[in-house]
Amino acid sequence: MKKNDVFEVEITGLGKDGEGIGHLEGMTFFVVGALPGDVVMAHVTKLKKTYGYAKVVKILKPSKDRVEPPCPVSDRCGGCSLMNFSYRAQLRMKEEIVEDDLVRIGGFDRDFIRKIQEPVIGMSDPLHYRNKAQIPVGMQPDGGIVMGFYAHHSHRIIEPDQSVGCLIGAPENQNITDAIKSWMYENKVRAYDETTHKGLIRHILIRHGVHTGQVMVCLVINGKSIPAIDNLVERLTVACPDITSICVNINKNTGNVILGDRTECIWGEPVITDKVGDITFDISAKSFFQVNPVQMEKLYSRALEYADLKGSENVYDLYSGIGTISLFLAKKAGHVTGVEVVPDAVKDAVRNAKLNGFSNTNFYTGKTEDVLPKLVAQGRPADVIVLDPPRKGAEKSVLETILSVAPSRIVYVSCDPATLARDLAILCEDGTYELKKYTPVDQFPESVHVETVALMSKKK
Ligand code: SAH
Repeated sequence: MKKNDVFEVEITGLGKDGEGIGHLEGMTFFVVGALPGDVVMAHVTKLKKTYGYAKVVKILKPSKDRVEPPCPVSDRCGGCSLMNFSYRAQLRMKEEIVEDDLVRIGGFDRDFIRKIQEPVIGMSDPLHYRNKAQIPVGMQPDGGIVMGFYAHHSHRIIEPDQSVGCLIGAPENQNITDAIKSWMYENKVRAYDETTHKGLIRHILIRHGVHTGQVMVCLVINGKSIPAIDNLVERLTVACPDITSICVNINKNTGNVILGDRTECIWGEPVITDKVGDITFDISAKSFFQVNPVQMEKLYSRALEYADLKGSENVYDLYSGIGTISLFLAKKAGHVTGVEVVPDAVKDAVRNAKLNGFSNTNFYTGKTEDVLPKLVAQGRPADVIVLDPPRKGAEKSVLETILSVAPSRIVYVSCDPATLARDLAILCEDGTYELKKYTPVDQFPESVHVETVALMSKKK
């Protein structure tokens, strides 16, 4: 096999970017445009020793799970990679991805994994689930303004289909971006250009408080201020009467980071509120808040169930963000200690604890790998440790500290099954802990991402 060869292959798996995976002559191929169950003719685009990349030339036999994508631009837009794959098949694949990683990377026995896994928790309606949209704004050569989503592996902006809007976002988003576009045309406001670093409007951030109905619109700008604020407010509040907050975020950096450090409220409140279960959260433009509120509640409920709190336990919530999981746990625990590296998130967590009348929580700012050993050295015990690290997983030293604390239960919430598998293997290594059960939770329908919550217990 060499570059540009064309070959026939059956697709049996799904890769991290939504590409199909097939095996041929001892090689693994990542095939763009193919889905599990397809038999395709593919064209080799890149070849390594044991694996290669390819592109579909022709689908010889389509997978029985292929469906007509509900979104007319899904083939071009990079927002969703699995819109042409039935939702039932998406859920099945996500179960398989977690199982495979636990076996391949974690070294767990497949029969054991199959015995302890709990069925994936999916959505009853997998569309319009996102409570947050970050919409890039750009200029076309003819002076037209575009707002939409980046194409796959590119910064070309693809606009949603006008008649249906973005199908994973809130339906009102289309009215909001249309209003901002009209304001830009009328006031000759230009979109930011990534190559020249000129132009004002970079992104539009929209957040919805799904339980409160509140909406925040934040314009990310390459400048100090925006012109014709009254005109913008008028247009936005007419287009979407649920708006309670309009902000600008100042980002004059040249890189790809979406939000700058400073946010100013130009109309309404600087935050919106939303609820998770019966707990209220203030959310600002920059706060990390799970994007799928329906699934977030199911995920946290499962984490709480795994934590099995009776009311007196000391709990650590590591990588605690704005304290969402911490406060969920605090309802049932004696005391919860949160650790989070972003100072603003910790401020939000402290405020949210107060807002809900909790007096049994403490939050510490810093890296878990630095803060946890200090708390442990102070003799702070833990009956249960919950951790929810970013995609790269936990530092080895964090896992070792957790083991030295010897809690009865460890609940690991993960957004990357590969690093979860690596970390669970480390936690199980010396035989003190065993993996009891885990549940994949679909936080991101139409994409390959999957969240997992796993329970480990100290062996008796
Ligand atoms: N548990 C929260 C946030 C999870 S996201 C929730 O469910 O909402 C992961 C969090 O880990 C982010 O808030 C991120 O800022 C934080 N983080 C990343 N690296 C960290 C580190 N080394 N130590 C502590 N927190 C970290």
